[in-house]
Amino acid sequence: MKDYFDFAASTPVSLQVLEAMKTWETDNFANASSAHQAGQASHQAIQKAREIIADKIGALPSEIIFTSGASEANNFAIKGLAFKHLDKKGHIITSSIEHKCILNTCAFLESIGFDVTYLAPDSYGRISAASLNEALRSDTILISIHHVNNELGTIQPIAEFGAIAFENGVPFHTDAAQSFCKCAIDVDDMDIDMLSLSGHKIYGPKGIGALYLRNARDSELVPLIHGGGQEGGLRGGTSPTPLIVGLAAAAECYPTEPSPDEQRFFNAIKEFEYTRNGGVDVVPTTWSVTFKSDDDVKSFTHNNPWLISQGSACNALSNVASHVLIALGMTEEQARRTYRISLPPYQISWK
Ligand SMILES: *Cc1c(COP(=O)(O)O)cnc(C)c1O
Repeated sequence: MKDYFDFAASTPVSLQVLEAMKTWETDNFANASSAHQAGQASHQAIQKAREIIADKIGALPSEIIFTSGASEANNFAIKGLAFKHLDKKGHIITSSIEHKCILNTCAFLESIGFDVTYLAPDSYGRISAASLNEALRSDTILISIHHVNNELGTIQPIAEFGAIAFENGVPFHTDAAQSFCKCAIDVDDMDIDMLSLSGHKIYGPKGIGALYLRNARDSELVPLIHGGGQEGGLRGGTSPTPLIVGLAAAAECYPTEPSPDEQRFFNAIKEFEYTRNGGVDVVPTTWSVTFKSDDDVKSFTHNNPWLISQGSACNALSNVASHVLIALGMTEEQARRTYRISLPPYQISWK
């Protein structure tokens, strides 16, 4: 797709990934829960994929639960934990600039009696560890703060959040849909108890993701989908072998070098007056750009047939200013002059 610069919204499936998936769509389509040889071959392909994903984040294969994507993984982490506390309810800490699937999950939990604190970012989109410390209460049951922001590219100090969560005995969940494969992650070093990831942000297929769940076998997380015992009884439904194999292939084949395509964007943006949002700790492939004037916006968008987003793809059709940009302190007018250009993602050098 020419002129596509919306890779934070979705990526194509790479040819290597497609190749890896093919045989599980056609030659061997057996149900991974079947006892016969073909079923067991599917089962083994899934176990191999579990190992690959686990390896990427320093987890154990048994701690990876496949889901339909990061939205489901986020719902599962937050509701699954909250549902253990339905009697007394409790307090959840998140941020005001999470993906809508987190914010709407939290809003739902508020509607049934949970308390939620939404930490505000600074004007660069960074959540501070100090604000997390201040928000903690004796009845806090969960901290959920994303790793890399999908609209700004800002990298949050999740190891600091993890350390605070650990010291206080509160589970820490992070939405890593925008950082998995791009940034180094070690769930032990970073004290992460749950982590969500998605296939279609890393050149894998849509409709697959995973939740990392510490000590999943002993976890009492309440399933969202009760079923036939798949995924250790935590997520029912026939395992989508091709999608799971595709997710692992995407993680394995993830590019380590930037794509030459991004040069076209750098050449184009040079001509304009703009500020880049998101501060200094940002991934190099997500650019949130506020143009200085409406004329700049017009000539940038009219002269270039870019496929890009204002805010994120999820907000794009609603014509409402992005909640993330407003949380930075922007006026609606500034938010309107702001575009997200997201370049083909690759692994950034480990810091
Ligand atoms: C894309 C995205 C999601 C949703 O992932 P799906 O796999 O499409 O459900 C959640 N959080 C963030 C930060 C994302 O970028």
